[in-house]
Amino acid sequence: MHRSQTADQEMVRKVNRSLVLNTLRLYAPISRVEVANLTGLNRSTVSNIINALIDEGMVWEQERQDSRVGRPSVSLTLRPDGGAVIGVEIGVDFISVLMTDFVAKPLYQDWIDLPEASPQIDVLVQAEQSIDQAIALANQQRLKLLGIGVGVPGLVNTNRGELIFAPNLKWRDVPLRLMWNQRFHLPIYVENEANLAALGEYYFGVARGVDDFVYLSSGIGLGGGMIVNGKLYGGAHGFAGEIGHMQRDPNGEQCACGRRGCWETQVGPRAVLRRVKNTLRESPDSPRPVGCAADLSNLTFTMVSHAALNGDPICRQAIEGVAEHLGRGIADLVNLFNPDLVVIGGALSLGKEILLPVIEKTVFDQSLGPSSNSTRIAFSERGKDACVYGAVAVVLDDILREMVLV
Ligand SMILES: [Zn+2]
Repeated sequence: MHRSQTADQEMVRKVNRSLVLNTLRLYAPISRVEVANLTGLNRSTVSNIINALIDEGMVWEQERQDSRVGRPSVSLTLRPDGGAVIGVEIGVDFISVLMTDFVAKPLYQDWIDLPEASPQIDVLVQAEQSIDQAIALANQQRLKLLGIGVGVPGLVNTNRGELIFAPNLKWRDVPLRLMWNQRFHLPIYVENEANLAALGEYYFGVARGVDDFVYLSSGIGLGGGMIVNGKLYGGAHGFAGEIGHMQRDPNGEQCACGRRGCWETQVGPRAVLRRVKNTLRESPDSPRPVGCAADLSNLTFTMVSHAALNGDPICRQAIEGVAEHLGRGIADLVNLFNPDLVVIGGALSLGKEILLPVIEKTVFDQSLGPSSNSTRIAFSERGKDACVYGAVAVVLDDILREMVLV
């Protein structure tokens, strides 16, 4: 296909501009020279793009003290007042809402604990009320709202913004984009929560600058998000990453998806609790974790991880057992994807001091030599906020791209 030279130049200009904007979003404050180094563009191209962005009110250039040379240097940042973005996570037993400015600085944050299996309408109404508060604050500060990103624990049709199936919520076919478009009159982006958490870690957390990694989100379920070549890997229809439902034991525990022995039944905080309870029932004279009732009904993962860290052998063994199952599954992922990094997030992170050495050893033993040597295992840096930050990143990504392509 023949294209005119002008059209090619125009496309190159847009791509370069997008590259500069995203570099500023990720690494600002930085100098023009640093932008040139990070993007690989030549200095005069970078300067032309930046001059245009400053004229358009999207970028600021300010003096800063450079400690290395002891004299002021000039650095660039995106303007925080470029707009506000809302990120929402609908979890199995919580709702989390974050609003940030144009440079992802938090302006509003809300966390609502919910009883598990709350009716869908209650969950949505509580989320909407929290979003209303965030919007009121943005209006008060005269910030233009750019969009709402939403993470949900299940399969999502991202093109249509619909939740298709969330086994642990027991929700099916919820047209979230349509519903919240009508309610809030803003662009709505719906994604799987582990995919968003992977993005959150990629843009704002432990995986910054790592273009090939796998994120595991371990809570009530086990979700996965894969960044391949710097992009979220969705597969043919956007459903990739349902690694929690890889079947690892056909005779194992019942899973919320209806089958038995899925990976997520073996590795979450619930699996740890099940192990501790089984052992304590078998040996009733053993000491109980601090705060635990005689009938074990109020035992929590927090109690178990504290007890394990304080030397309780039963709690420690339970966490180590789960770590081994986690390590075996991660070894498969390492063999399959050869990632630079595997990030573990979610509630399981509480026991990371005990989990990490066992996971590392199992991955090393179970995956093929060269790939296991080059894969790092790390725990999430954004923790429980990884998904809402990823939700903000999805909106910013799209807004920046649109600005570039208009
Ligand atoms: Zn399952």
